[in-house]
Amino acid sequence: MIVADRKPLEEILNSIKDYKKIMLMGCGGCVTVCFSGGAKAVELLASQITMARKKDDSEIEIVQCTPERQCEYEFNDAFKDDLASVDAVLSTACGVGVQAMAVQFPKLITLPALNTKFMGYPVEHAVWEEKCAGCGDCVLGWTGGLCPIARCAKKLLNGPCGGSSNGVCEVDKDTECVWQLIYDRLKDLDKLENLTQVREPKDWRTSTNAGQRKIKFEEAML
Ligand code: SF4
Ligand code: SF4
Repeated sequence: MIVADRKPLEEILNSIKDYKKIMLMGCGGCVTVCFSGGAKAVELLASQITMARKKDDSEIEIVQCTPERQCEYEFNDAFKDDLASVDAVLSTACGVGVQAMAVQFPKLITLPALNTKFMGYPVEHAVWEEKCAGCGDCVLGWTGGLCPIARCAKKLLNGPCGGSSNGVCEVDKDTECVWQLIYDRLKDLDKLENLTQVREPKDWRTSTNAGQRKIKFEEAML
């Protein structure tokens, strides 16, 4: 799922300082699961903004809503009447949701209240770790299901850099060396021969490095 966290309150307050009435718009998707942008997060942020603006003698009216998914226009449409009466939208969706609103309601400014971080896996309650960088050419088939793109600081494809110590990455002492994990996993699977093949440099054109990517499912378009 997409993991995001909230921007500092000061930054949010500064972004809406010119507005007297805003729509604070959450999202019922991934950001609800990671606690940063669902209905509860919207309620909390609304009360923090209200208090801060009262303190500054600059009161603000906040309309709250949380469409099921802000990245899909059908769900946002339900709020179009309310949107007609506000000066701006403050969104607690991921960056896709914010841009969906910007396209759908071009005359209204939509401001992000979150920093969208990564595609994560919940390792324990309320803790997510990045597991996939969306490189567009997945190598998990020969790495034992462990991603060296998202999880190795150097994105190595041909084994460890040689700097790890006791299974810990040399770049960050709180991160396991994924190449150690890959070796251990392949050994358990009796697939260590996967590591004897030299991998060619990755073609990064399938990743975000080559600019915006698009996918079309022709069959679904019929
Ligand atoms: S190899 Fe690429 S697609 Fe596969 S998990 Fe890693 S980043 Fe994601
Ligand atoms: S120690 Fe392991 S995870 Fe860290 S940069 Fe080197 S190979 Fe990658």
